[in-house]
Amino acid sequence: MAWYGRMTGPEGQGASQNRVRPSRTNGRSKHRSESRRKSTLPTFVRTEKCDGCKGQDKTACMYICPHDLMRLDKDGSETGHAMKSYNLEPEQCWECYSCIKICPQQAIEARA
Ligand code: SF4
Ligand code: SF4
Repeated sequence: MAWYGRMTGPEGQGASQNRVRPSRTNGRSKHRSESRRKSTLPTFVRTEKCDGCKGQDKTACMYICPHDLMRLDKDGSETGHAMKSYNLEPEQCWECYSCIKICPQQAIEARA
C-alpha cells in the first residue's frame, strides 16, 4: 500500500533541482546520520488517548513515519506507560505530521 511512497516528488524533467531531500523509498531514510536542523515542533503522544492501535504488531504511527521514529512501548519500560506509543527521537522529527494525520485516536500532537 505505502501511499507515502508516491510522495517522493516530481520525476523526470526538472527533478534534479528538487533532490535536496533524502529518499523516502520504502518509508525509510538512507541518510539518518546526516546533519540537519533540530526539530522545533516535534510530535508527542497523549498517553491517555493512545490505545496502542489495539496491540497490533505495527501501529499506524510506526507504519507511517518516514524517519522511523515512532515506537510502541509494550511493557512500559521506556515511558512508564505500557502499550502506548512514543516518539523515540523528537529532535529528529521531520515535522511532516503524517503520524498526527493517521492516528485513529487523535493521540498525537505537535509540541511547541
Ligand atoms: S497511531 Fe495513535 S493510537 Fe495508534 S499507537 Fe500511534 S499514537 Fe497510539
Ligand atoms: S511528524 Fe513525521 S517525522 Fe515526525 S514523528 Fe510524525 S511521522 Fe515521524
